[in-house]
Amino acid sequence: MHNDLLCSYQLTLLDAYRKMNTSQKEIVFVLDEEERLVGVLTDGDIRRLIAEGRDFSTSLSSLSYPSCKLLMEGEDMAKALEPLAKDGFKVGTGVVRILPVVNHESRVVDAVDLRETAFLPVASPDIGTKEFNYLVDAYLSGWISSSGQYIGQFEDTFSEYVGVEHGVACSNGTSALHLALLALGVGPGDEVIVPDLTFAATINAVFHAQATPIIVDVEPEGWTIDCDEIRRHASAKTKAVIAVHVYGQPCDMTALRGVCDDLGLALIEDCAEAHGAKFDGKMVGSFGDISCFSFFANKILTTGEGGMCLTASSELADTMRKLRDHGMSREKKYFHDTVGFNYRMTNLQAAIGCAQVSRIDEISDQRLALERAYREALEPLDLFEFQPDLERRTRTVWLVVALVKGDSPTRDAIISALRRSGIDCRNFFYPLSDMPVYAPYKTKSEVTQSLSERGLCFPTTTTLKPDYVERLRDALLEWQCNEATG
Ligand SMILES: *Cc1c(COP(=O)(O)O)cnc(C)c1O
Repeated sequence: MHNDLLCSYQLTLLDAYRKMNTSQKEIVFVLDEEERLVGVLTDGDIRRLIAEGRDFSTSLSSLSYPSCKLLMEGEDMAKALEPLAKDGFKVGTGVVRILPVVNHESRVVDAVDLRETAFLPVASPDIGTKEFNYLVDAYLSGWISSSGQYIGQFEDTFSEYVGVEHGVACSNGTSALHLALLALGVGPGDEVIVPDLTFAATINAVFHAQATPIIVDVEPEGWTIDCDEIRRHASAKTKAVIAVHVYGQPCDMTALRGVCDDLGLALIEDCAEAHGAKFDGKMVGSFGDISCFSFFANKILTTGEGGMCLTASSELADTMRKLRDHGMSREKKYFHDTVGFNYRMTNLQAAIGCAQVSRIDEISDQRLALERAYREALEPLDLFEFQPDLERRTRTVWLVVALVKGDSPTRDAIISALRRSGIDCRNFFYPLSDMPVYAPYKTKSEVTQSLSERGLCFPTTTTLKPDYVERLRDALLEWQCNEATG
């Protein structure tokens, strides 16, 4: 496939130029007599050399070649291309289109055409002109810290969207969880139940509050916290549950409310991955005593970094407002009657948030459509089990996720194959209970173990043309063929 790109350095500029003309590719890889890569030459390079007075009969061996970007055989292409992609694939004055792949002897074994293989990130934010306009407005107003009109506006519009009375914006999703725990009076000696399948921020917040986590397994149906496990592991010391709507799937809120009421536990919803998901037609985030959202750049809605606590209780909201602002008295400025934090959101972040809230239906619909495209393209391959759709639970799409039909080596082989094609595919969260820092707090976790070994997250980037779904399918087909033929 790359033979038409190879050019011996005993040839001339004219030979190289003719080669490009035949291959219809604007580059050749120049090789020494031992067929090792010396450098690359593009049509632009040839034009410059001619303009500088070189002759077409110049031997390629008399030219000097600056070091060029290349890939090593077997290298993780997604990783290698990541820094290049950040610069729009610019190297020096030009834009790289075709990269040589070399082995450890510097022999060219393959070529990668970046136009077909441009690095595809697992997630990128959907921010556009509206966000930019609001941001510039906040910037020009001079209110760039945590005062300014956008903060209140963001709290109001987002809490109204979810259908909860009070919104308290803060610096990120983790500080939102910390504020929620503190406002509910959780502290040293108290236990908080968290699911095993989640991002580490959920359990870290429990440590920040100096409480003790109890990690419980998730249910096989929805992959969300198992209410029977909560009943089994709650004790007299247990104060609260943090339920996570993991990968956009709502928890069973009827069962959760039931168990929390029975046992007298506070219920915190971690909605970081589920903006807009619904249970019984009602938004997640409207069921818990407090619910917490993240607006990190890879979440459904983003403010760069950011978070928000929602609650129906004005007392809880007041406590959280005070704690996020150094514990300063709400009545008497600069008088502190409790030790607080600086967990404030800036007006700049809130401005982006306001634009995002106004676009949430459009953003959610695009993510759902992308997931549909994935299902249609990949179902015929019979490789994956997609996230289940359950009665009463209306999922939203954070990342497009699926389980591999097979074991974990298959999952890892698929991820490697996709990454070699420049497609950034990720495995599921590791079970919290597998990580030594959290392991002392584990109970049992068979379901989480199995999900975590088989789960993968596909690129969920709605700002690119969705034709990358076909590219991903083709890479999988090629992998399947190679597997079948050994
Ligand atoms: C992202 C995330 C958080 C934390 O959000 P940050 O804004 O990064 O602090 C908390 N919980 C879950 C489940 C998350 O996915």
